[in-house]
Amino acid sequence: MRWKKQLLELSPYLPGKSIEEVKKQYGLEKITKLASNENPFGCSDKVLESLKKYQPKTELYPDGYATNLRETLAEALQVDINQLLFGNGSDEIIQIISRALLHSDSNTVMATPTFPQYRHNAILEGAEVREVPLKNGDHDLDGMLAAVDEKTNVIWLCSPNNPTGTYISEEKMASFLSKVPQDILVVIDEAYYEYAVAEDYHDSINLLKEFKNLIVLRTFSKIYGLASMRVGYGIADRDIIRALEPAREPFNTNSFAQLAAKTSIEDTEFVEVCKLKNREGLEQFYQFCGENALEYFPSQGNFILINFNRDGDEVFQYLLSRGFIVRSGKALGFPSCVRITVGSKEQNEGLIELLKEFLAEEL
Ligand SMILES: *Cc1c(COP(=O)(O)O)cnc(C)c1O
Repeated sequence: MRWKKQLLELSPYLPGKSIEEVKKQYGLEKITKLASNENPFGCSDKVLESLKKYQPKTELYPDGYATNLRETLAEALQVDINQLLFGNGSDEIIQIISRALLHSDSNTVMATPTFPQYRHNAILEGAEVREVPLKNGDHDLDGMLAAVDEKTNVIWLCSPNNPTGTYISEEKMASFLSKVPQDILVVIDEAYYEYAVAEDYHDSINLLKEFKNLIVLRTFSKIYGLASMRVGYGIADRDIIRALEPAREPFNTNSFAQLAAKTSIEDTEFVEVCKLKNREGLEQFYQFCGENALEYFPSQGNFILINFNRDGDEVFQYLLSRGFIVRSGKALGFPSCVRITVGSKEQNEGLIELLKEFLAEEL
């Protein structure tokens, strides 16, 4: 085969251990997965009800325009229906953007460590990847500007950033955007937007009015608890959306997912409750870190990156064998850290108890 040579640099996505696998391996009855930033409270009951009532016409293709979802979302966001692009998860929007703008005679600028799919898709398209190290967990926006040249086609910003949970302030974001040439697409990945509470967190939809070279990515996978349904979306100026649309597969979001997403938007109370419980959960971890003198990044997301000052795999393994799945920081660019998804109060307590035992044993 004459594979694209860049394909040979890439490895398949390695999914975390499944709950069933871990149960079997360690002979455990109960496993708590706090590894993929999923919502510990599931999704809105209204979504489950709507799916139960739904009588699918399985032989028909879904609405490729996702009309019902589109109209509901446009209304909720107060944007025009032509400013939205839907994907099979926001992962697919990242793919669509890369497909549309990146090629072997272009480069793309992003932070590191950040969400790995930007790099992965850019490499697949043969583009040069320019990674600018985070500074103390934050995007080095000046460094990123300095990395831009006439062949830069896309800049990726992740705020709150995965895996650090750090964010870019409104002021810094606006100042950065005003310095980026208008013919470069700036992507702001807001997968954790609904969890952010910082007063000066960017109002990207407002920034869209001023900056036509911007696209904002959000998802139903995180706070809405619909990761299995695979729906994400982009919000941008209608000209950007029109240009990207041909790179999207015509029936990329399915009927169940469209219905679930649409219904989930309507249950604003569920989102509020999850947001609040997430803040309370983060406080549990902050307190634990404070008591044990562990460094962490204050998080605007539903996860926390904690520095244990030892091999992250060690902490991961200790927790795994006791029924908690988290993410070792090793594969995330923070080898002495562990990334923990904030769970329910009880889940957090259980995990923190084990972490205390781990630290005590290590002394
Ligand atoms: C989870 C996540 C996504 C992907 O979400 P999907 O919509 O499920 O594809 C995108 N960006 C970041 C930063 C994420 O953490």
